[in-house]
Amino acid sequence: TFDVLVVGGGPAGASSAIYAARKGIKTGMVVETFGGQVLETLGIENVIGTPYVEGPQLMRQVEEHVKQYDVDIMKGQRAKAIRKNDLIEVELENGAQLTAKTAILSTGARWRAINVPGEKEFKNKGIAYCPHCDGPLFKDKEVVVIGGGNSGIEAAIDLAGLAKHIYVLEFLPELKADQVLQEKLYSLTNVTVITNAATKEITGSSHVEALTYTDRLTNEEHTLQVEGVFILIGLMPNTEWLTGSVALSDRGEILVDKHGATNVEGIFAAGDCTDSAYKQIIISMGSGATAALGAFDYLIRNT
Ligand code: FAD
Repeated sequence: TFDVLVVGGGPAGASSAIYAARKGIKTGMVVETFGGQVLETLGIENVIGTPYVEGPQLMRQVEEHVKQYDVDIMKGQRAKAIRKNDLIEVELENGAQLTAKTAILSTGARWRAINVPGEKEFKNKGIAYCPHCDGPLFKDKEVVVIGGGNSGIEAAIDLAGLAKHIYVLEFLPELKADQVLQEKLYSLTNVTVITNAATKEITGSSHVEALTYTDRLTNEEHTLQVEGVFILIGLMPNTEWLTGSVALSDRGEILVDKHGATNVEGIFAAGDCTDSAYKQIIISMGSGATAALGAFDYLIRNT
């Protein structure tokens, strides 16, 4: 039986494991792929104190750091259910069952893909999902933002301060973002909003050069010459396996309090799978530390 069992091995899970192990308590980690979303990131420039690092390199360092402590890392394992009886029981897809006094859920999230030709090919070569991360790469360039919800319109407003021109493509007849964001967007002079636009393909040679969309009203095709495409059509938490066992928001994010505690005693959560306001590496690492300290506090009070 573990004192703390961490599920997930991205920045949040790794940080939780280090903070827990440093308390000298029995710590385990169940990890499908150590590294999480950061493995998909080429250059990272906002880990404070490290001006530039590539995602795989950062997560190798993080894994080395975890391994300096006595943490039982179970790699290549997916958790499929969690229950609280006397102890917390975590069931794995391979059929094994683990028990723990506390658990920290840190299964992260994934950006919804648009699934058009060119999306995979040009990922990190002009296609981006995170304006806070990659916005500065597009200074003085022409950029498309796909998605007219809050995250898309926030990104367009953010990028408009850096990029030369922004095209916002929305599939539906109107933007879905909050009115105040739409007003701000329409006050900017370097933004064009295109509704009823179905993205067809993203093209280029070594880097994105153009995006073609179909006007859903006229069926006409149009091509925009752009160097960047931000796809902001939803960040989906990896929490499908938790439905019915911990409280989730209507977007499927795990609801946590300021100690990282969920609604189930002894179960904590951290990182992009929670309802944290912003999803970033340092924020996930911070919330992982919070959840581990929350779990330790719970242990000294309850066991
Ligand atoms: P994740 O990194 O998503 O890790 C989740 C972990 O859980 C993984 O180990 C996964 O294998 C595991 N897992 C999932 N389900 C299960 C399961 N059922 N059982 C067991 N394990 C499971 N942020 C920045 O701060 N700067 C950047 O420059 C930046 N660039 C980005 C670029 C891209 C392309 C993307 C996609 C994201 C970027 N981000 C960036 C965001 C950042 O990567 C995330 O905020 C951060 O990785 C979240 O950490 P996490 O630990 O919460 O989740």
